[in-house]
Amino acid sequence: MRFLTDRFLRFLFPPQCHCCETFLEEGEQGVCRGCFSKIRWIEPPFCTICGVPFLSGEIESHPCGACLTRRRYFTIARALGYYEGPFRETIHRWKYEEKNCLTRFFGEKLAEGFRRYWDVESFDLLLPVPLHPCRLRERGFNQALLLVRELNRSTRIPYSKKLLRKKILTPPQVHLSRAEREKAVRGSFDLQREEEVEGKLILLVDDVYTTGSTVNECARVLRKAGAKQIDVLTLAHAIKNF
Ligand SMILES: [Zn+2]
Ligand SMILES: [Zn+2]
Repeated sequence: MRFLTDRFLRFLFPPQCHCCETFLEEGEQGVCRGCFSKIRWIEPPFCTICGVPFLSGEIESHPCGACLTRRRYFTIARALGYYEGPFRETIHRWKYEEKNCLTRFFGEKLAEGFRRYWDVESFDLLLPVPLHPCRLRERGFNQALLLVRELNRSTRIPYSKKLLRKKILTPPQVHLSRAEREKAVRGSFDLQREEEVEGKLILLVDDVYTTGSTVNECARVLRKAGAKQIDVLTLAHAIKNF
């Protein structure tokens, strides 16, 4: 019956690619094959700490300059793809308009990425990078929490949606430099119950890694409360020259 309803709905409202809007064929989910094939996935060599991909394929993975000169409170950060082209377009749409099929699509990709770098025993807890309550009201949902829920479904690693909080509203960071971002986010997160992170291995999840200032600040707060280790997983890594 459920199958018939799905078929019927598909007939009445044929699903479209969330990037180029062509009608999807059977077996395609969220984005069409054409757009999917244009997504650049991140492969080594990349920074062994923040995961930023290196342009030259000739060298081995090693820590990048930014990671050598700045204190990183997380151990490693990994992302699935470059934040550009159809991947960027689709993430952007999904952030401002929650779509179940895209949540499933990103959730599946995230779970694949997770298995590439870790296993389920690697963590005690999954935490989404939180949004400030005002932003949450504006948007209606936190995309990082949607990702965490999807990852919890496939790994069964527990998660907490309110433990880590964004207590100070910070201005949009799109045009800020790395140093300005670091200053802007400093002190803007806190923990609801500090004792719940003590000794824990934690995976922080977000949609996009840009300079790492946000996840680094979250990791700093977690480490201060006694978390043992924090790693980071995002859908995309934005490559910028700061
Ligand atoms: Zn498409
Ligand atoms: Zn790095």
